[in-house]
Amino acid sequence: MVFHRNTLLELLDGVHTFEKEVYPQKKDLFQSLAYDQTPPTLFITCADSRISPSLITQTEPGELFLIRNVGNIVPAYGNMVGAVASAIEYAVGALRVKNIIICGHSNCGAMSALINLATNPDKLANMPTVRRWLHNAEAAAATISDLRAEDVGPKDVRDLAEANVRLQLTHLKTHPIVAKALSRNELNVQGWYYDIQNGRMYILNDENKKEYSVEEAIALLKKPNSTDND
Ligand SMILES: [Zn+2]
Repeated sequence: MVFHRNTLLELLDGVHTFEKEVYPQKKDLFQSLAYDQTPPTLFITCADSRISPSLITQTEPGELFLIRNVGNIVPAYGNMVGAVASAIEYAVGALRVKNIIICGHSNCGAMSALINLATNPDKLANMPTVRRWLHNAEAAAATISDLRAEDVGPKDVRDLAEANVRLQLTHLKTHPIVAKALSRNELNVQGWYYDIQNGRMYILNDENKKEYSVEEAIALLKKPNSTDND
């Protein structure tokens, strides 16, 4: 059973531990970050509490510029002027990130909601904003054949989560600042799928519906004459 910091007191207690024990160990790092950030990576993932981007990538403060929302969604350019589009512009235009990752995950509530949107929209009646937001992922649901809420299994939810990551990568590339950086080979863009239960990441392949293990993705990047740029 997981220990949760349920009360505000327990949450503040965690901050207190950070101030007294964690910060002193990394004081130099925090002081070096005091006035500036130069994160190499924009990491876009779901708001889901079970995803800890720094933990799963073993990165420190200052390394990941984050966008988090329900379903790791990137609305296509022009569809919504808001948090996602402005953070992308800032990350690519001002911070000049070198990598953009879109990371979906197992058992995603947004994917279940998306299945409901396609099959049983009344279930989302009390969440009109979520319902509108999920329209940005509707095309992913359309690629999963015969989606019916009653016989959707774990594999369908995973297929949908991966299809959603691929769709959001497509949307990402409609943002002019991203398209420009890609055309100049200044940016790597990759889709990931995170399996919470097994602690495994899968790297999605652009060209086909396959995915790679992290070991395979590393080997491909290290291969001489790799088409992926570093
Ligand atoms: Zn999620």
